[in-house]
Amino acid sequence: MKYVSTRGRIEPLEFQDAVMMGLGDDGGLLVPQQIPNVADRLADWAKLPYPELAFEVISLFATDIPRDDLRDLINRSYVGTFDSDPEVAPITPAGDMFVMELWHGPTMSFKDVALQLLGNLFEYILAKRGGKLNIVAATSGDTGSAAICGVRGRKGVNIFVMHPAGRVSPIQERQMTSVLDANVHNIAIDGSFDDCQRIMKTLACDLEFKQTYSLGAVNSVNWARVLAQTVYYFQGAFKLQRLTGAATIRACVPTGNFGDILAGWYAMKMGAPISQLVLATNHNDILSRFFNSGVYSGGDVHHTLAPAMDIQVASNFERYLYHKVGDDPGRLSSLMQQFADTGSLQIDCESPGVVDSIFRAGSTVDDDILAAIRDCYNANEYLVDPHTACGLSVIGSGEFDRSVPTLCVSTAHPAKFPDAIEQATGQDLAHHPAIDALDDLPTRCEPIANDPQAVADFIVKTIQQ
Ligand SMILES: *Cc1c(COP(=O)(O)O)cnc(C)c1O
Repeated sequence: MKYVSTRGRIEPLEFQDAVMMGLGDDGGLLVPQQIPNVADRLADWAKLPYPELAFEVISLFATDIPRDDLRDLINRSYVGTFDSDPEVAPITPAGDMFVMELWHGPTMSFKDVALQLLGNLFEYILAKRGGKLNIVAATSGDTGSAAICGVRGRKGVNIFVMHPAGRVSPIQERQMTSVLDANVHNIAIDGSFDDCQRIMKTLACDLEFKQTYSLGAVNSVNWARVLAQTVYYFQGAFKLQRLTGAATIRACVPTGNFGDILAGWYAMKMGAPISQLVLATNHNDILSRFFNSGVYSGGDVHHTLAPAMDIQVASNFERYLYHKVGDDPGRLSSLMQQFADTGSLQIDCESPGVVDSIFRAGSTVDDDILAAIRDCYNANEYLVDPHTACGLSVIGSGEFDRSVPTLCVSTAHPAKFPDAIEQATGQDLAHHPAIDALDDLPTRCEPIANDPQAVADFIVKTIQQ
């Protein structure tokens, strides 16, 4: 399998090169040249435990890694690393929904599923090729801790994680800044998450800087992350088929950077038995507005109870748009240029108000999030975090055909967001021993201005020490 850029200006790459490149050197995102169709394998795949299913899916895309090596990388990522072991993505029924809990990994968000694998991939590739990798990441909360956890202490890798100062939850901040390994560097940017993401893109698009300092990416611009996430859509759909007897299912996904739901889209395109994707945003509704109108236009960032989705410019959206315009890099580049120039782009709807019949989309405000947490707890004695609650709220408000079973993607453990839980339920219910223990740990973090040059200077100074 070869990888090409959405902007069409780099030569096709092998998987390992795509993983190391992160963002395409031409500023685009790397995508597989074809999407394999696995319809004839579904019956066999449905019987596989998670690591074996992951091997089957990932081996179609990571064709330049010897099969035994890949099997070993996958086992090290998914056997014994999740507290739900041997399951990675267990499903809990809540009312007539099925909640897929993706937060049983070491940092308690779904991002562990991809970043455990990515950390192992980086180490494997560097061990074979030699050299170093300096990862630069922007986080609105959970990517940072999951990425740090994936690469802490690994040879040849430094990680620099920018978060918006004071805009991630105190727990998320401590999960990052309490990791004191010498290769881990936290940076608090005086700005928003979009500012952090812009700085990251500025550095990654400065090719001379990127090559001189071997920059890599762990954000969901890295193809390996999206790929790792496709696996649980297959497994979740298979499980719901078994539980309900339905032929196809619907997946409801809380969305910020369009990474997780894009993985669901790729799984569906490969043939996973999913008939509909429901996209749920918080008050930052650029994506839900797009899917209901065809217009993609940014606005101001609102701070919400679901901060990992406080995003206006969804970097992974470019991959979807590329496929939507028929894998045409010229068309995609001109749309992105239009967005860069005017803050807005538009594509034609398939029918009035429907951009893509696969997707339904809705947005929520904080009161909806609180109501969804409360209602779910009162009805089922089951707590969901505020991001998962966005999904429950959108599903609860729409006129969805209840005969299609719904897989609600649950992205974080509720104990990561205790204030929202307490606001919703009036009780202090959300705890996890690993999170309670964070309070007493020492931390390390560098405050830096909202300026790419200042961040570049810090990176260079740190690498040279
Ligand atoms: C990152 C994150 C999201 C959004 O995921 P995307 O892939 O960016 O759409 C949702 N919920 C939680 C808890 C997250 O950490």
